[in-house]
Amino acid sequence: MEKRKLSYTLKRNYPLSEVTRIHLGGKCSRYMEFRDLYNTNIDRLNFLEYIKNTKFKYTNEFEDLKVPFFLGNGSDVLFSDKKYIGDVVKISSNGIFILENYSCISDSIPETRSNYDLKQGDKSTASLNLSSIYFKEDKSNPVYVFAESGVRLSYLIQYTLEIGFSGLHWFSYIPANVSGAIYNNVHGGIELLSNYIDAVVVLKNNREIKLLSNNELDFGYDKSIFQKDKSIVILGAIFKLYKQENINIYSDFSKNWIKQKVNVQPKGYSLGSTFKNFSEEEKLKYNLPSISAGYLIDSCNLKGFRINNAYIYEKHANFFINEGTSSEDYNNLIEYAIKKVKEQYNVTLIPEVIRVNF
Ligand SMILES: Cc1cc2nc3c(=O)[nH]c(=O)nc-3n(C[C@H](O)[C@H](O)[C@H](O)COP(=O)(O)OP(=O)(O)OC[C@H]3O[C@@H](n4cnc5c(N)ncnc54)[C@H](O)[C@@H]3O)c2cc1C
Repeated sequence: MEKRKLSYTLKRNYPLSEVTRIHLGGKCSRYMEFRDLYNTNIDRLNFLEYIKNTKFKYTNEFEDLKVPFFLGNGSDVLFSDKKYIGDVVKISSNGIFILENYSCISDSIPETRSNYDLKQGDKSTASLNLSSIYFKEDKSNPVYVFAESGVRLSYLIQYTLEIGFSGLHWFSYIPANVSGAIYNNVHGGIELLSNYIDAVVVLKNNREIKLLSNNELDFGYDKSIFQKDKSIVILGAIFKLYKQENINIYSDFSKNWIKQKVNVQPKGYSLGSTFKNFSEEEKLKYNLPSISAGYLIDSCNLKGFRINNAYIYEKHANFFINEGTSSEDYNNLIEYAIKKVKEQYNVTLIPEVIRVNF
């Protein structure tokens, strides 16, 4: 077999504002983008060799772990304006394979629901009509699909829905890649992505490729093992979806859901929900009027509040917009909302947004 070289691009002193959805962030020492990891086994080995032999410039944060910062689609990361002394690596490898004769490796996939306040939401998300996306999935015919880290979630969703595989429709209109979506275990309406994941293919300790079952991944609302153990690199995932007959899930459900989200979400640059919602238990414990972070921010009269050109969206208080600002202003806005909510409710908002190098 012809030995193909691993395909990647490398840029030095690269502005991270170019690769984040919020269009903010200083330069990094080196930015690398890898493609086609799985097209042949040779590529996969080359990647391992490359990772092993490359002397990455580690940031302090990662010094012990000996890994660079892995980026997905950059829709949840706020890099500071300072130079990031280290490497930022993106895996753009984007193959999708339908797995025939695959036997699932998870004993059972625990179904967890997201903290979505169905009754109250916040004043804007309450307008999302969940019944328009919900239908009773026939789960008698599971199918398994492998998608590499760099696959755009929206593409995977459309592709699988159009061939009649249900499950991922809940996550329509989330601007993530497969890797970032898994890292955060994205939520759509009441569903978590982990409800549809059988296993994740990872690179461990820069040398070992492993298949980790759903049961090993500590999934929860906005939570996965990858957030705790940064030495694990996500290379792809095996999704457990369900073959449906005689319904067009994409046209009947997903498109409608997208239309609703388009109405609620801002057109400008944002990182989606800035803060996590609280759980029902936390709501009771802290005597909160709602589990919704947006609701709490709104009730502190912060909609429209701005720090220079960073502001809190008028229609949805959990979305913070960059209108030509700096990371510093954007971060100060986050801190300001935390302070105000703390003053009013004596509770600390937990950012969903990942802040790096501050
Ligand atoms: C307009 C908008 C709407 C959104 N709506 C939603 C929503 O409805 N629900 C929701 O849950 N989220 C939503 N989000 C937030 C965001 O899309 C998710 O958090 C998503 O998981 C981020 O994926 P990403 O590919 O952009 O990852 P990134 O932001 O690039 O990275 C996120 C984290 O994943 C890690 N990571 C990425 N790739 C790898 C890898 N290969 N190996 C190890 N770690 C890796 C990164 O280091 C980082 O810590 C929204 C964001 C925006 C901008």
